[in-house]
Amino acid sequence: MTDIGALSRDLGAIRTVVDRAQVKLRSRDFYWYSPILKKQLRDVTADLVVMPADEAELIETLKACHARGVPVTPRGAGTGNYGQAMPLKGGVLLDLSLMNAIPRIEPGRVRAQAGAKLIEIDTRAQAETRQEQRMHPSTLRTATVGGFVAGGSGGVGSVTWGGLRDRGNVLGLRVLTMEARPRVLELRGDDVQKIVHAYGTTGIVTEVEMALAPAYDWIDVILGFADFGSAVRFSHMLTAQDALLKKLVTSIATPIPQLYFRQLKDIVPPDTHVVLAMIAPLAMEAFESLLESWPADMLHRSDRDGRRNLPPVYEFSWNHSTLLALKVDRAITYHQVLYPPPGHLAKIAHLHATQGDDVMDHLEFVRFDGQVAAFGLPLIRFTDERRLLQIEGTFAAAGCPTFSPHACTLEEGGMKRVDPVQLAFKREADPQGLLNPGKMIAWERPDYDGTRQAAHLFPAAGGA
Ligand code: FAD
Repeated sequence: MTDIGALSRDLGAIRTVVDRAQVKLRSRDFYWYSPILKKQLRDVTADLVVMPADEAELIETLKACHARGVPVTPRGAGTGNYGQAMPLKGGVLLDLSLMNAIPRIEPGRVRAQAGAKLIEIDTRAQAETRQEQRMHPSTLRTATVGGFVAGGSGGVGSVTWGGLRDRGNVLGLRVLTMEARPRVLELRGDDVQKIVHAYGTTGIVTEVEMALAPAYDWIDVILGFADFGSAVRFSHMLTAQDALLKKLVTSIATPIPQLYFRQLKDIVPPDTHVVLAMIAPLAMEAFESLLESWPADMLHRSDRDGRRNLPPVYEFSWNHSTLLALKVDRAITYHQVLYPPPGHLAKIAHLHATQGDDVMDHLEFVRFDGQVAAFGLPLIRFTDERRLLQIEGTFAAAGCPTFSPHACTLEEGGMKRVDPVQLAFKREADPQGLLNPGKMIAWERPDYDGTRQAAHLFPAAGGA
C-alpha cells in the first residue's frame, strides 16, 4: 500500500494530483475499446499522479518511488487502446505531458521530449524545415511522441516507411532507469528496441530522436468500389508503386462507411466499399493514370472538392474506424490481424467470403519486411467472448496471426514474442520490477513460453 502522504512529502514542490476522481480519470486510456478489458480494468487506479516539469524532477520522482517500492506507470496522452498506460498495481501515474519541448529539428531528424505532442512536432518541422514525421498514429492530434514510441506500432506513413520498429525510424532515445540512483542512458541503433513498444516496462523515455521525411500538402482521396476484391487488389497495387508518393492506403468494406462514418454519409453511396488514400500533389497525375484501368469512382479529393468540413481522411483509418463505430454502436469492438505475404490477397478474399456478418473488414496496407502486406483492424459486433475467440480462430486457421487487443500484456497482445532483449534490459534497468508492473508476463512468470507463437508482428528486439 502506497503511503501517499509520505511520498508527497518526498516529492516536495514537484506537481502532483491527489484528488481521487482526477487520479482515476488519468489512470484510464482507451481500454474500453475491448469489452473484455472494459470489465477487467474498470477499477484500476493509481494512488497519485506526478507531473515532473523536467528531467531533474523526474529523477527525484523515480528515486523517491524506488526508495519506497512504489510502482510507476508512465503516461503520455493516454490514447493507447489495450490498457497499456493503466496502473494495474496502483502507485504513481507518471504524467509526462509537461516535458514537451522540441529542442532540435534538422535535416532528416527531430529531437523532442517524450511529452511533446505529435501534432506539435509536425507543425514545427513543417514550418521550420518543410519536413514531417515519417509516420504517426491516427491520433496525430492528441498523442505524444513518448507514448507513440513506447505504446504504438505504426500508422499513417507505414505504407511507405514500415513500422516503428523498422530500423532507421527511431534513431535515438534518452532513457532513465528505475534504480536507487536512476541512470541516464542514450540508446541508439538496435539498442532503441529495448524500449520501443515495451509499454514503459523497461525504462522511462525522456527524449526521442525520430527520422523525418519531406513534408507534402497531402491530398485526401476517397474512392468507391462495387466489389471489395477490386478495392483490395487496387490497394495492393497502389502500395506496391514505390515511386508514387503516398502516406495512406486503407480498404474499408461496406457497411462500415454507411453505418459508422456519419461525416461521409453524403459522399459514400449505399453498398459501396471505399479506399482511402493520401497522395502527394506531385504524384496525383500518376495516381490518376493508375486509376484509369480500375472500376473505381472518385468520391472525394480534397484538392478539387475542398475539405467539405471533413476531418483529415486518416481520421477514418487505423484505430479511428473503431472509435467512429463505437460512437454509433456501443456493441462494436475489433481485432488486429496480419495478412502476411505472399498470398495475403487470397487470404483476405477467403476470409471476406466466409466470415459472418458480425465481422466487417478494414485493412491497412503497409510495408512489412520490405514487402506489401495488409494489417487488418476488422470491426466486430460483439456478442460474447466465445464468439470472439471463434472469430480469432478463423483468422488463425487461414494462416493470419492475430494480435489481441483484448489483453493488456505485451505477450498476449502478441505484438511480439517474449522479447529476450527487453527482458534482459528490464533486469538491468528496473531490477525491482516497479515500472508498469503486470504488463510483461515474462517478468512475473519466468516459465511463460510465448516463443511458441508461430508469427509475430515485429521481429524480437535486436533480431534480424
Ligand atoms: P499513452 O497511451 O499515454 O501510452 C502508451 C504506452 O506508452 C503506455 O504503456 C505508457 O505506459 C507508455 N509510455 C508513455 N509515455 C512513456 C514514456 N515517456 N516512457 C516510457 N513509456 C511511456 N496506435 C498506432 O500505433 N497506430 C495508430 O494508427 C493508432 N491509431 C489510434 C487511433 C485511436 C482513435 C486510438 C484511441 C488509438 C490509436 N492508437 C494507434 C493507439 C495510440 O494512440 C498510440 O499508440 C499513441 O501513439 C499513444 O500515445 P499516447 O501519448 O497516448 O501514449
